[in-house]
Amino acid sequence: MKYFSTRDTEKNSFDSAVVIKKGLAADGGLFVPDSLPSISREEIEKLCGMSYPERAATVLSKFLTDYTYEELLEDCKNAYCEASFPDGAAQLNKINDTIYSLELWHGPTAAFKDMALQIMPRLLSRALVKTGEKNTALILVATSGDTGKAALEGYKDIEGIKIIVFYPVDGVSKVQKLQMATQTGNNVNVCAIKGNFDDAQNGVKKIFSDNEAKQKLLENSYILSSANSINWGRLAPQIVYYVSAYCDMLNSGDIEYGETVNVCVPTGNFGNIFAAYLAKLMGLPIAKLICASNDNNVLTEFLSTGTYNRNRKFHTTISPSMDILISSNLERLLYFTAGSEKTADYMQQLNKNGQYTISDDIKALISENFEGYFANEDSTRKTLERFYKEYGYLADTHTSVALDCAEQYIAKTNDTKKIIVASTASPYKFAADVYEAIAHKPASADTGALDDLAALTNTEISYPLRNLADRKVNFNTVIESADMLNEVYKFM
Ligand SMILES: *Cc1c(COP(=O)(O)O)cnc(C)c1O
Repeated sequence: MKYFSTRDTEKNSFDSAVVIKKGLAADGGLFVPDSLPSISREEIEKLCGMSYPERAATVLSKFLTDYTYEELLEDCKNAYCEASFPDGAAQLNKINDTIYSLELWHGPTAAFKDMALQIMPRLLSRALVKTGEKNTALILVATSGDTGKAALEGYKDIEGIKIIVFYPVDGVSKVQKLQMATQTGNNVNVCAIKGNFDDAQNGVKKIFSDNEAKQKLLENSYILSSANSINWGRLAPQIVYYVSAYCDMLNSGDIEYGETVNVCVPTGNFGNIFAAYLAKLMGLPIAKLICASNDNNVLTEFLSTGTYNRNRKFHTTISPSMDILISSNLERLLYFTAGSEKTADYMQQLNKNGQYTISDDIKALISENFEGYFANEDSTRKTLERFYKEYGYLADTHTSVALDCAEQYIAKTNDTKKIIVASTASPYKFAADVYEAIAHKPASADTGALDDLAALTNTEISYPLRNLADRKVNFNTVIESADMLNEVYKFM
């Protein structure tokens, strides 16, 4: 299987190892596969009898055809091992007759980003060997909180790779900030910027397209690579857990073979939901993809009107990993529905005017598969409280946005199909807001919120978040977003 850029009408193609190493295409586009493998009924039945690492290696081997199955299986076994995921990699919990929560946050940083970032560094490591790379890969990450920590944990102390993470200084939770500031490892750097997530992401994108900077880095034996969800190495492993969840529902008898389910995803950069869409295109029986947003509802508007307009107020919410106005992976959906030429044109309009409008036929194609809803802050809190009190289900703030949107979808459509709701973070990662939503009073200051939430709900603090306040702070730099390149040079 080969890959090319979403914006390249000539379709210059590359192997997956090259694509994982590069991260972003030279023309600014995102890499997409040249065809989509299918997944047959027989294969799904076989997958039902497999462990998560085996399921992952099987699905990945359809896309990463320049890796052997044995290589992928070894990496998947190491990535999704019991030490990193003591409670299992992708747990499905039945909440009520319709709604199932797919908990993707039982990994080393308590967010779903671990599902991709525990495996991607291993894929990159192999990619460097496969492509004969002699230079050090420098990973640049812009994060709204969860990616940063998950990438740091995935890449720390890996030979031949260095990583630098930029996050918006006031755009992440206290726990997230503390998780990153206390990072260990001899090849890592963490830096806060004055600005929001889009400033951080634009800064990183700018460096990626700065030829002078890349030349200077190369002279010092560095090449750039990305760990953001624009990297195909992030996206491919996310297809796996939708297939896996479907198998688990078959195994438990909750569905019959061929029965279609809906999927609802709390969305930021559009990576996670796009992975579900790819699973559907492969043949997994998924009906609707419900795109859940918070007050930053640019995607809700896009899916209902066909106009994407980033010229709007940026809201800092209690679900900060979804506080995004430019959802980069949407470009991949545009490519799959409208082709390279139109995608390049829309992206140029977005860069220039901050908006674009898709044609009616493309909008109709997208609407066959996607519906968008959003939950404001008040509804998110009320839904969080209600799911806890009615069903005994404790969700984090991001998952609550999705639960709220799933219920809106049911109310609007009367669709009775089962819905897999992606649960993207441990409630303890956003303990202060989760506590307040249920207890109707603020938690104790700082990380006292974790203990408050544990006492209130009689649940255990997620293992990566225990004793966070006692760890040594290794990083406290804050810079202007214009100084990001300088920070990279200093780190180099
Ligand atoms: C990253 C993240 C999201 C958004 O996922 P995308 O793939 O960027 O759409 C949602 N919730 C949490 C907790 C996250 O960390």
